[in-house]
Amino acid sequence: MIAWQTIKKISPLQAIVFTGTISICIVIAGTAGFFVTQHTLLEKVEKKQACYLDLVDFRGKLIEFGLLRNQAERLNGTTEEQATQESEHFEVLLLMYEKLLSEMHDAGLQPVASMLLTRESWPKLLAASNLELLRLDLEKSIEKAKIESQDASVKLVVINEFFLLFILAVLLTVSITAGWMLHNNYRQTLIPLSQLAGQLKLLNRNIPESIRDTAEEMKKELTDAEYSSDITQVTRSIMSFCGDIDAKNKKLDELHIRDEKTNLYNYRHFKEHLIVEVERSKRQNEKVSLAMIDIDYFKRYNDANGHLAGDRALKALADIISTQCRAYDVPSRFGGEEFAILFPKTDTETASEIAERLRKIISRESFRQQQQQPAGELTVSIGVATFPADAADWHNLINNADRALYKAKSNGRNKVVTFLSMNSQKSGKRDEA
Ligand code: GH3
Ligand code: MG
Ligand code: MG
Repeated sequence: MIAWQTIKKISPLQAIVFTGTISICIVIAGTAGFFVTQHTLLEKVEKKQACYLDLVDFRGKLIEFGLLRNQAERLNGTTEEQATQESEHFEVLLLMYEKLLSEMHDAGLQPVASMLLTRESWPKLLAASNLELLRLDLEKSIEKAKIESQDASVKLVVINEFFLLFILAVLLTVSITAGWMLHNNYRQTLIPLSQLAGQLKLLNRNIPESIRDTAEEMKKELTDAEYSSDITQVTRSIMSFCGDIDAKNKKLDELHIRDEKTNLYNYRHFKEHLIVEVERSKRQNEKVSLAMIDIDYFKRYNDANGHLAGDRALKALADIISTQCRAYDVPSRFGGEEFAILFPKTDTETASEIAERLRKIISRESFRQQQQQPAGELTVSIGVATFPADAADWHNLINNADRALYKAKSNGRNKVVTFLSMNSQKSGKRDEA
C-alpha cells in the first residue's frame, strides 16, 4: 500500500527515466551473459568435434597398422623395408595417441581403459590379439565423442534461441510499460492540463466579478480527477493564486466604493445605487427616500481648531451615521462636509424618523472643542425627500432633498426638514391667501 502510494507520487517523466534505466541495465547484463555463455559453449563444441575427428583419424591409422601387421604375419617375416615402414607407422600412432589423450582431457572426454597405457606397454597392445580390442574401445570413444559434440551443438542452438526470446521479452515488456506510462501521462497530466487551461480561460474572462466562483468550480472539478504530482503542484499554485487575487479584488472593490477620509460609501457608489433604486421604485411602485446632511457652521469649527481636528470630527460624525443606518441603507459622503443617506423601500415618515434620531444623537455627542460653535455644540441640518412623491427622477430627488436641507438651515439649523412639509406649508399659505 505504502509502496503504491510512493509509486503514485512519482511523476510520469521520473517513471520513464527510471524504467528506461532498468531496461538498459537488464539488456546489457543479459547480452554480456549471453556472449560469455555462447563463447564457452562454442569452445566446447569445437574441442569435442576436433577430438571426434582425431579419434576417427586415429582409428583409420590403427586399421592400416593392423593390416600391415597381418600382411607381415602371413608372409612369416618381414623385409627390412617393411620393418622400417612398420616402425614409422608405430611412431606416428604413438604421437597421435599422445595428442589424442591430451585433446580428450581438454574436451572433457574420458579415454577408455585400454587406451590408458604407457609408451612402454604399447608394443604389447599392438599385438594382433589386442589390436581388435583397442579398435572396439576406440569405436566406443568415437561414438561418445560424437554424441557429446552433438549435445554441445544442441545446447548452443538452445542458448541462441533463449537469447532471442529474452530480447523479445524485454522488448515486449518495455513496449507495454512505455504504453502504460504514456497512457498514465495522458490521463494524469495532459487531461488535467487541458482542464486547467479551460478553467484558466474562464478565469481570465470572469476576472474580477466571479473569480471566487471560478476558483471553487476549478477546485471541485480537479479534486475529482486523479493526476500526477506535477499537476497537483500546478493546481495548488493556481488555487493559492486565485485566493490571492480574490483577496486583492475584495480590497480593490472596497477602495473603489469607499471614501478614504470617512470610510462611508463614496459619491460614485451612492449615485449608482440611487439610480438603481429609483428605477426599481418605478418598476415595483415602491418609495425611496433620501436624506442630505450638512454640518452646521463647520467652517468655524475648522477655523477654530484646524483642518486636522475638523477631519477627526468629520470621521466621528461619519461613524455615528454609519451605525444608525440599517443594513440595506446607503450612508455616503456626498462631498466636503455633506453626507447623503439613501433609504431604499422607505417612505418620508420613516426616513425623517431615522434622520431625527440621528440629529439628536449627533447634537448630544460631545465632540472635542465644540464649545466655540454658535450653539455651543456641533450639530447637523438634514433635508429629506422621497421618490416618487417629491421628485420625477434621481437628479430631482437630490435637488429637492437639498432644498429641504437649506430650509432646515434657514429655520435655524440643527433641524430635520422634509420636502413634503415645505410643500404642505406652501399650499397652506396659498389656501390662507
Ligand atoms: P453652514 O453649513 O452651517 O451654513 O456653515 P458652514 O460653515 O458649514 O458652511 P459650508 O457648509 O459652506 O462650509 C463648508 C466648510 O466645510 C468649508 C470647509 O472648510 C469645510 N470642509 C469641507 N470639506 C472638509 C474636509 O474634508 N475637512 C475639513 N476639515 N473641513 C472641510
Ligand atoms: Mg456645506
Ligand atoms: Mg455646513
